[in-house]
Amino acid sequence: MTDPLGRAANAHVSSQDEAQILDAIDKWLDRDVKDRVMALEHADAYPREMVEHMKELGLFGATISREYGGLGLPAGTYAKIVTRISEVWMSLTGIFNSHLIMSAAVERFGTDEQRERFLPRFASGEIRGGLALTEPNCGTDLQAIRTTAVHQGDNFTVNGTKTWISNGIEGTCFAVLVKTDTEAEPRHKGMSLLLAEKGHGFTVGRKLEKIGYKGIDAAELIFENFQVSEDNLIGGEEGRGFHQAVGGLELGRINVAARGVGIANAALKEATAYSQVRETMGKPICQHQAIQLKLADMATRCQAAKLLTEYAATAYDRGERCDMEAGMAKLYASEAALENAQECMRIHGGYGYSTEFPVERLYRDAPLLCIGEGTNEMQRIIIARQLIARNPA
Ligand SMILES: Cc1cc2nc3c(=O)[nH]c(=O)nc-3n(C[C@H](O)[C@H](O)[C@H](O)COP(=O)(O)OP(=O)(O)OC[C@H]3O[C@@H](n4cnc5c(N)ncnc54)[C@H](O)[C@@H]3O)c2cc1C
Repeated sequence: MTDPLGRAANAHVSSQDEAQILDAIDKWLDRDVKDRVMALEHADAYPREMVEHMKELGLFGATISREYGGLGLPAGTYAKIVTRISEVWMSLTGIFNSHLIMSAAVERFGTDEQRERFLPRFASGEIRGGLALTEPNCGTDLQAIRTTAVHQGDNFTVNGTKTWISNGIEGTCFAVLVKTDTEAEPRHKGMSLLLAEKGHGFTVGRKLEKIGYKGIDAAELIFENFQVSEDNLIGGEEGRGFHQAVGGLELGRINVAARGVGIANAALKEATAYSQVRETMGKPICQHQAIQLKLADMATRCQAAKLLTEYAATAYDRGERCDMEAGMAKLYASEAALENAQECMRIHGGYGYSTEFPVERLYRDAPLLCIGEGTNEMQRIIIARQLIARNPA
């Protein structure tokens, strides 16, 4: 069941069930994650064991409907999970988030046959993957993509290169944005979304090295005369891919906002704790007004980012159009994460520049949030356009 905007309408959880899910996540983070983050992060190692636990916790099906084996969680609960995990290690959220955006595209826009064929295996984590939109020549301007899919007989022949694809190495299935009609005007009418499982003609070009967001793989994906069945065209109709791809961005932006809240909170916690044990001029630095001003601003940003994220998630769960709300949450929370990470580093003085404290990871992770799921420049444009559209003169 989907609402007119294509969102799952059965997403609901009782407050008791939500508390139980969050408690299970907290216990897992305490028991199996916290103490291992630094080693995995610095080795840029894929957290295989944690992925198995994530399967057991149902995270690969968090927002997939229960009828397909998912947890059927609303965006509000999902955002709380993402925030909690990001407070400990943001990279883990990337392993299931783009996978869930791919799943949402199948659930919202796919045929019944596609839902039944893919969603149960997506929900269990048996098949994992993500969304392949970006190309070497374009990310923001998705209508400029060059990857083509030519319909021949029962198959599409796909040629092109995608880049920066999260889970590109470890994942096996991707929703790939292609041009099925390169002449179409407007350009988006010639775009389609295909579910591509790795095989002959679909290979990984290379792993991309990043300054942060370690552990999760980002890769270039190469399609050379790759054959994919027409049964894998999401929704079974060509020309709807752009709409289907951007249809996932509201949830994607709420997710990025939730990560921002997590990073901002983590920076505040680290800074608050450190400022009480580090002494200068005979007293803990938290007693210096200059540090107190920073802590106060950091805490205020955390709370504002959390409330904006909840506000957007609530609108999403009510089935309302919420591109402006999700854009505001994403914009504010990601900038809050960046500012808090930097202030946390300053509060740590020289130790903030060490690789032995968690703050350096927060400082490297936060900028990604200002880029992914639509850059913050684009969020401002989306917010302003909506503002004007909703308030005609
Ligand atoms: C770690 C990581 C993981 C990623 N994972 C994925 C993934 O799983 N799948 C995927 O498809 N992509 C992924 N991406 C790609 C990401 O979505 C893009 O990098 C992002 O959309 C920006 O696109 P771009 O890099 O091409 O920048 P560009 O579009 O080239 O933008 C460059 C600059 O110009 C600005 N700009 C562009 N157009 C306008 C405009 N009209 N008005 C004002 N300013 C403008 C932008 O804000 C930016 O500042 C990932 C990226 C990274 C770094």
